[in-house]
Amino acid sequence: MKTKLKLFLTCFILITTSLLLVAGCAKKESISTTTSSQDNSTSTFAVSEITQTLGDDGYYNGSFVVPSNGISFILSVFKDNNGSAAFYSLSDPDSTDILSSSSTPTLYGAASGSTSGKGYANVLVPQSSSFKAKAGTWTFKYILGDRVKLALRTGNFPNAATIVVQPYITGTTWSAADLNGALSVMSRIYSANGITLSINSTITISDSQYATVSKDFTDTTTSALVSQGSTNAVNLFFIEDYAGSGSSGILGNAAGMPGSMGIANAWNGVLNSLTAHASGSTLNEQLLGETAAHEMGHQLGLYHPTEANGTTFDILSDTAECSKSSRDNDSNGEVSAEECEGFGAENVMFWTPWSSSSRSAGKKQETLSSHQRQVLKYSPIAK
Ligand SMILES: [Zn+2]
Repeated sequence: MKTKLKLFLTCFILITTSLLLVAGCAKKESISTTTSSQDNSTSTFAVSEITQTLGDDGYYNGSFVVPSNGISFILSVFKDNNGSAAFYSLSDPDSTDILSSSSTPTLYGAASGSTSGKGYANVLVPQSSSFKAKAGTWTFKYILGDRVKLALRTGNFPNAATIVVQPYITGTTWSAADLNGALSVMSRIYSANGITLSINSTITISDSQYATVSKDFTDTTTSALVSQGSTNAVNLFFIEDYAGSGSSGILGNAAGMPGSMGIANAWNGVLNSLTAHASGSTLNEQLLGETAAHEMGHQLGLYHPTEANGTTFDILSDTAECSKSSRDNDSNGEVSAEECEGFGAENVMFWTPWSSSSRSAGKKQETLSSHQRQVLKYSPIAK
């Protein structure tokens, strides 16, 4: 998530949507053995529900098979009342529990499925190059949840990845055409990092209740909005503004790191505030494009390389780190983009944008590391 503190300081705080930050934006949700799939020349993406069994140990458990041509998967657990949802374990075909703190590598603490989300949590494999969607039988256990779904990508791994994007716009201040500049910026950013975006025509949602919505994906209205998202795309909801106190200046937020993929639910997309990117009625296309690229990165499983505190870093080994101990020059407890120049501030996923003066001077956030690109290329929703 990207937030900016209002007024001219353009001090931004990105709240990640996951559980790294206590007050982060929720994550989240689903049932029935619905199966959807999208075919393409190189890989196939299919969603299925996994039957749960209550074991003697009190845990619900289940299993699924990744075929020899498996590329990636996202395993999701849902809790209908938006209560806590979490996995207890997820063991690969070699019996390594990748959610255990004692495993190496581990997603313990990094995947929402290992900690818990409100109504929804998941595990993405691979979420870094240390993991692989190994062929064979995977087993899981959970105690907090109502059902589990698997979104599995199989087929041939393409040299060039394509990700389908579906934009939506709400409110009355701006129209679909006003997004074209920002969408072009986003597309250019991804293209420069080896990923082709196939951006569908923007869908206008005119129902007035969606003009301003809560950043909380478990909110009834936000849930109803995001649930309209396509199951074949990464859904970007460009809302007129956020509703509710404490949301002033938030640039955008994603439904998870990753959010849901391939399932129509409250966590199947990201929000971007148009008002937060506007001067008067003019949208800052570069910044809005960077925000959309950033939130989409979260939705597909990328974290901030360095969090605001300068002491928490992502699980990828090749992303630049900006340590508070050496870079927080003004000792305010946060590492700004200016303080992190050359130490990750240029990255799409840096936690906060450049200041307005830096942006005016041409500073941008358009780069992704090799490992970040790899996570995106392996994404279940990519082709
Ligand atoms: Zn963020």
